[in-house]
Amino acid sequence: MSNFDTIQRRDSEYVAHTYGRFPVAITSGRNAVCFDADGRRYIDMTSGIGVNSLGFCDEGWIKAVTEQLGKLQHISNLYYTEPCGKLAELLCKRTGMKKVFFANSGAEANEGAIKAARKYSFMKYGEGRSKILTLKNSFHGRTVTTLSATGQDVFHNYFFPFTEGFDFVEAGSIAELTAKSEGVCAVMMELIQGEGGVLPVDREFVLEAEKFCRENDILLIIDEVQTGVGRTGSLYCFEQYGIRPDLVTSAKGIGGGLPLAAVLFGEKVENVFSPGDHATTFGGNPIACSGAVEIINRLDEGFLAEVVKKGEYIRERVLKMPHVSGIAGMGLMLGIELADGIKSADVVKAGIANGALLLTAKAKVRLLPPLTITYAELDEALAALEKSLESF
Ligand SMILES: *Cc1c(COP(=O)(O)O)cnc(C)c1O
Repeated sequence: MSNFDTIQRRDSEYVAHTYGRFPVAITSGRNAVCFDADGRRYIDMTSGIGVNSLGFCDEGWIKAVTEQLGKLQHISNLYYTEPCGKLAELLCKRTGMKKVFFANSGAEANEGAIKAARKYSFMKYGEGRSKILTLKNSFHGRTVTTLSATGQDVFHNYFFPFTEGFDFVEAGSIAELTAKSEGVCAVMMELIQGEGGVLPVDREFVLEAEKFCRENDILLIIDEVQTGVGRTGSLYCFEQYGIRPDLVTSAKGIGGGLPLAAVLFGEKVENVFSPGDHATTFGGNPIACSGAVEIINRLDEGFLAEVVKKGEYIRERVLKMPHVSGIAGMGLMLGIELADGIKSADVVKAGIANGALLLTAKAKVRLLPPLTITYAELDEALAALEKSLESF
């Protein structure tokens, strides 16, 4: 029996079957290269779904994390710790936002933003102004409330009753947004719908939505769980849209592989929560925050310019490959459109056989490589992708 078979059998017997896993067990990695339990080598174009911002086992990140690990792994939020404050300060100074609440996952960050928006409105306008508009085809998480917020019918099953107070607007339709604005306290959107198929939301629409929200004291929540932390070539994607959101949520890439999420509060809502309104046991964990400080510090102007350049390099190369009809996205968040009826899941399977880990996003092949991927690693991944596409 191979090492993989042993791992798979145990997993199938004892781990709940909520995931459709590929038949590979990853055991170690460095930057964008990783190895499976039987010694096969892959180039990672997934970062674990946009999580490992600095790749596998980055030296600076390991140093930051292990130094903190040797001092204090956790103490409750009843006490101060330094890393949490340092990270909050960095995030505020870099984004112009005013306060940060730390959580542990994207769904939880979105829950925090939803609570903040509802409380802001309740305190100012009283009951009944609690609706939140999100976009059709969005994805905001897997808790009962963030499933409600997700604008895709396939997610609204089995788990009834869902949280009330969400309605959906076609991305790009300012008319629908304004028509549905009665009793609305917030509009929440991704700027590039990630799970929805790497679909950038139209800039004019976003600007008009921001203006409408500002004029009507409706809060604008930007879900940057996937687009944040350098992924699109700026620290947060909203900077490239030229907007000033009231609330921004961040997760995935912010912890570099440790569970960490953040809600960033703008001026209007910076004091909306009082002690006791919102909390989480693990939020602001000093180890996760120490690693995140290292990540944010590394993402300077030069680093972010490289993310953009690498994204352009991939685009140029991919557009010349067989069965490719287009490529969407920004920076190192890219979605490849396939021609000739080829299924994205089949390309991912072929990628594994050819030594590259890829993702799907609906009908597209999605690429979310570590931001630190080298050109040599990229060349290897692109060669594997091309070989995979040639096999159809
Ligand atoms: C992944 C994702 C989430 C959910 O994050 P979890 O950490 O899995 O809870 C929410 N919003 C967006 C845009 C995401 O990509």
